[in-house]
Amino acid sequence: MKIVNSSEEILSLSMGYKKLGQKIAFVPTMGFLHAGHISLIEEAKKYADIVVVSIFVNPLQFNNPEDLKTYPVDLEGDTEKCIQANVDILFLPSADTIYPQGIPNLLIQFPRLMDKLCGKTRPGHFEGVLVVVGKLFNLVQPDVAIFGKKDYQQFRIIHQFVEDLSFPIQVIGVDTIREEDGLAMSSRNVKMSDRERNAAELIPRTLKLGGKLIMEGEKNPNTLIEILSDVINSSTLLKIDYLEIVDPISFETKEDLQGDSLIAIAVFAGKVRLIDNIVVQN
Ligand code: AMP
Repeated sequence: MKIVNSSEEILSLSMGYKKLGQKIAFVPTMGFLHAGHISLIEEAKKYADIVVVSIFVNPLQFNNPEDLKTYPVDLEGDTEKCIQANVDILFLPSADTIYPQGIPNLLIQFPRLMDKLCGKTRPGHFEGVLVVVGKLFNLVQPDVAIFGKKDYQQFRIIHQFVEDLSFPIQVIGVDTIREEDGLAMSSRNVKMSDRERNAAELIPRTLKLGGKLIMEGEKNPNTLIEILSDVINSSTLLKIDYLEIVDPISFETKEDLQGDSLIAIAVFAGKVRLIDNIVVQN
């Protein structure tokens, strides 16, 4: 596995592969890799000859400085995991490499997709994500880019970004990988205390219940939100940031629960903010 730090080197490597007619699949991450990331790498291999993984904790997408400061890092462990997963290139840029002129004065917005869910409670987050993803796409020149549906809103917005700007990139979404008790794997999970971690198990349980009640005929989103909120609120260790049922494409609030529904949730377990979702096809 090649480890690359500079933008010039990653770009010239990518151009070289392209000239040889080799396809590049790209998995952007913020590191502290877990089985969810590895499943993205495995998916990447299905589409390309060369798999590039990046690890970059993008300061631009953190609306909470404390969250950025405490974001877990394990470069040595991550490098080993990438070697084990047969990654071809691990791109490890510094903030100066990505933002050589400092923070760019660039704002990319999809108002109707960004003013809801995480976009509402984490102002500036997706704008920061799109700047870094656009930059990484230009440096890595992927044919395919792989994202997790755990970050469903991010996946949907990046899909739209690629479509609207005609990036010649296929965007693939991968289903959420979960712990044994159902909690979505996340680099932030290690930041919870044991008690918070135990309580967090209510998050996937709530989503599952939501799916079941819709399939059993519940028609009223407000009734369902009330029922599901009560489950989360039954733990004093959890605090709902948002719990919404929306259309999975437009993110518009659903008037009734006919057709596909995205149940999306963000919950604070102590200081740790966790997100999860399910799409219910009805
Ligand atoms: P992150 O390092 O958290 O920024 O995530 C990097 C990529 O991995 C994103 O596309 C995430 O959606 C994806 N990802 C994170 N957690 C999971 C998971 N539990 N299952 C599947 N994909 C995930």
